[in-house]
Amino acid sequence: MQVKAIAAIAPDAPLEPTTIERRDVGEHEVLIGTKFVGICHSDIHTVRSQWGQITYPMVVGHEIAGIVEEIGSGVTKHQVGDHVGVGCFVDSCRECENCKAGLDNYCLQGNIGTYNGVGRDGKPTAGGYSTHIVVDENYVLRIPENLPLDAAAPLLCAGVTTYSPLTHWGAGPGKKVAIVGLGGLGHMGVQIAHAMGAEVSVLSQSLKKKEDGERLGADHYYATSDESTFEDLQGTFDLILNTVSANLDLGRYLPLLKTNGAFVELGAPEHPMEVPAFALIPQRRTLAGSMIGSIAETQEMLDFCGKHGLGAEVEVIHADKVNEAYDRVVNSDVRYRFVIDTATI
Ligand code: NAP
Ligand code: ZN
Ligand code: ZN
Repeated sequence: MQVKAIAAIAPDAPLEPTTIERRDVGEHEVLIGTKFVGICHSDIHTVRSQWGQITYPMVVGHEIAGIVEEIGSGVTKHQVGDHVGVGCFVDSCRECENCKAGLDNYCLQGNIGTYNGVGRDGKPTAGGYSTHIVVDENYVLRIPENLPLDAAAPLLCAGVTTYSPLTHWGAGPGKKVAIVGLGGLGHMGVQIAHAMGAEVSVLSQSLKKKEDGERLGADHYYATSDESTFEDLQGTFDLILNTVSANLDLGRYLPLLKTNGAFVELGAPEHPMEVPAFALIPQRRTLAGSMIGSIAETQEMLDFCGKHGLGAEVEVIHADKVNEAYDRVVNSDVRYRFVIDTATI
C-alpha cells in the first residue's frame, strides 16, 4: 500500500511530504496505524548525515505509538485495536549468542533498524514519520492502556535508552545518579531513576529548567556553566548517564564519580571525545556505553512506566512544523519531546 510520510531529501534541506510503499502484511506481521511519533535527536543526526552518509530520501522516526489495524494469519501476540509501539529496530538475526540471550539490541549480525536499515525483503526500511508501518509481531511492543499514546511514543527510544543502563548499573535506593542534559532522554532518565528509588541529580547547562527537573523527580539540580558545580560534586555519584548530543569535556565529568562509579555514554555526538586517563584510573572508574534496550527490556520498561504512570512530557506538533522542531531540538529548546501527530502527515 502507498502511505503518506515525511522524508529527508538531503542533509541540509528541509524534510518534505512524500508517499512510500508499505509491504503487504505477512503471516507473522502486523499493520500499525501510527498515531504519534517522537522526534529523537538521533533522527536529526541521521538525516543530516552526521553519523555517516545515508541514502536519500530517508524517512526516519523510531518512537512510534499506534494502533493495530490488521494482523497476519499466524500472529498470536497482538490483536486489531491494541495499543502498540515500535522502537529502534524491527528485526534481528534471532540466532546469534546475543539474540538467544535476549540481547537483541546487541545482535552480533547487527539488528535491522526501523529506518536506515535493510529489511529481510532486501528493501530499505522506512521509519515512523508515516501513517502506517508493517512490523514482525515479535518486534512490536504492548503499550499499557493507561498511558496516552502521545506520551508513550518517546518511551520506545528515550525511555528504554535510559531504563536499560539504570537497571544494568543498579540504580535504586541508596544510589546517587546524575543525569547530564535535560532533553528527551534526560527527562525520561530523571523520572525513571526517581521511580526506581535513586537519589537523582540533573546536570544541565543552566538552571532554566530547574523547576521542571524537580517536578520530574530530581532531588538536586546543578548548572554546568557554574564552575563550582564541578568542584562541589567531586566523588559524588555512583552512576552518571550522559545524554548530551554534543561533545563534553570528560575530564571535568569523570571525577564526579565515586570509587567504582560508572559514567555511561548515551549521547552520540558526531565527533570523538578525549578521555583523560587520570580522570578514570585513580578511583577505578568505569567509562561505558549503552545502546537502547532489548525487546524484552523495552516491554519491561513500558510495563514499569504503566505501573508508575510515567510518560514523556510532549509538545505535539503538526507535520508541517517538523523542520522548526528540529532547529529547536538542536538549540536545546525542547520541553521535553516533540511528537508528530501522524494524522497531519
Ligand atoms: P535532546 O532532546 O536534544 O537532549 C540533549 C540535551 O543535551 C539537551 O536538551 C541539553 O540539555 C544538552 N545539550 C545539548 N547540547 C549541549 C552542549 N553543547 N553542551 C552541553 N549540553 C548540551 O536529545 P535526545 O533525543 O535526548 O538525544 C541525546 C543524544 O542521545 C543524541 O546524541 C542521540 O543521538 C543520542 N541517543 C542515543 C541512544 C543510545 O541508544 N545510546 C538512543 C537515543 C538517542 P540541557 O539544556 O539540560 O543542558
Ligand atoms: Zn532515538
Ligand atoms: Zn542476532
